[in-house]
Amino acid sequence: MINITPLDKWIKEKIQFCCNSTHSDFTNALEAYQLRKINETIDHARSNSPFYRRMLQNIPMEPFVALSDFAKIPFTTPSDIAGDPFGFLAVRQNDVSNIVTLRTSGSTGNAKRIFFTNDDLELTIDFFHRGMRTLVSPGQKVAILLPGAISDSVGDLLMRGLSRLDVRSLVYGPVIDPRDAVDAISSFGAHCLVGIPIQVLDLAHSWVEADIKQSSIENVLLSTDYVPRAISRTLQNLWGCRVFNHYGMTEMGLGGGVECEALDGYHLREADLYFEIVDHETGRLCPDGVTGEVVFTTLTRKGMPLIRYRTGDMARIIPEPCPCGSALKRMECVKGRWSGIIYLEPDSRLFLSDLDEALFGLSGLLDYRATVSMRKGRAAQMHIDIYQAEGAALKKQDILHALNRINAIQKSISSNALMEPTITFSSEGRWSTTGTTKRKIVISTEAE
Ligand SMILES: [Zn+2]
Repeated sequence: MINITPLDKWIKEKIQFCCNSTHSDFTNALEAYQLRKINETIDHARSNSPFYRRMLQNIPMEPFVALSDFAKIPFTTPSDIAGDPFGFLAVRQNDVSNIVTLRTSGSTGNAKRIFFTNDDLELTIDFFHRGMRTLVSPGQKVAILLPGAISDSVGDLLMRGLSRLDVRSLVYGPVIDPRDAVDAISSFGAHCLVGIPIQVLDLAHSWVEADIKQSSIENVLLSTDYVPRAISRTLQNLWGCRVFNHYGMTEMGLGGGVECEALDGYHLREADLYFEIVDHETGRLCPDGVTGEVVFTTLTRKGMPLIRYRTGDMARIIPEPCPCGSALKRMECVKGRWSGIIYLEPDSRLFLSDLDEALFGLSGLLDYRATVSMRKGRAAQMHIDIYQAEGAALKKQDILHALNRINAIQKSISSNALMEPTITFSSEGRWSTTGTTKRKIVISTEAE
């Protein structure tokens, strides 16, 4: 028996949909609410944010009468924010309670700054409170393995949301020393862990080494990055737990969506965010079921409204109804980032997720770093640096075998576009220790 996502009741309350009517009544009411909120957001942004005043100057002042018209508005990009973060501010600076600074990989080196008012932060806490009901019940305990030392950081907001559920939190922070984390979590008696996939995998290996017989862990929520299915399987097998995916980014107000018990795609925070999937090349709307780039608009944010913000994430809306019985949309778990695709040949695309699924399926592999050197007129070179658990005895042959099962690699090697990958074993430890930056394949382009 699969329980309905708690977001269903939450969103009905938020949009004041009180009648127990059909799915299509709910969908219609939600769309009418979203349209109204989009018009309010455009008004608020145009009146108060210098960036949007400029960007929206040619958009008619009349409110949109259909959601489909909204696609006429241009996109907002991460570099727009990095270029002029204060241009997005739509409240007085005194009303900003929290500023998150995000490093960008762009050539300008400008940081993105995301501003939140107290009311904006309350919306996030409320989402965490209601969304976590799938994973914990009152009286249980959660270990939060996300940054939380600073007030209003993600870990802190999650803890505050959980306290409303009468759930106790241990805000441990990112896992730097997995053995220390094992001790802390097992003595706390956590029923649920919330963390970053690769760090929780490391923790799991140390858990096995520590030979802890009893585990109270029932559910794990993985966030912040693409979640390799191979990692979810390892955790399920170790703890006999369920592994849920969360989707979010700072620009969304940290939380974006969370899986229900069906564990097959996220339900979205649809009363606070309007999601679209667009073609990555043309920017046109994709029909449900078609993979494109995730674009969102904030519906309730005051400090820094974002309109049609391009996330760079690759996903699709699942057209089939969710087994949990909710009429809410369901987004398939993010497959990775559009910028992370490597073209080994014009028609041969390699995704970080391909490498993740192949490599994290190898027992004892804790992290890896992939570098691809593209060389004009010559075969590309791929190098994989492996970090394995203490006592694991991975062999180069096993790793090569796993890599060769990836279609793009197999095809490119056989057409001489790619040389056989080289493998080394790192003694330095993990690379993604802080874990809050997105992992990616490193590309180097050699001169001729
Ligand atoms: Zn569901």
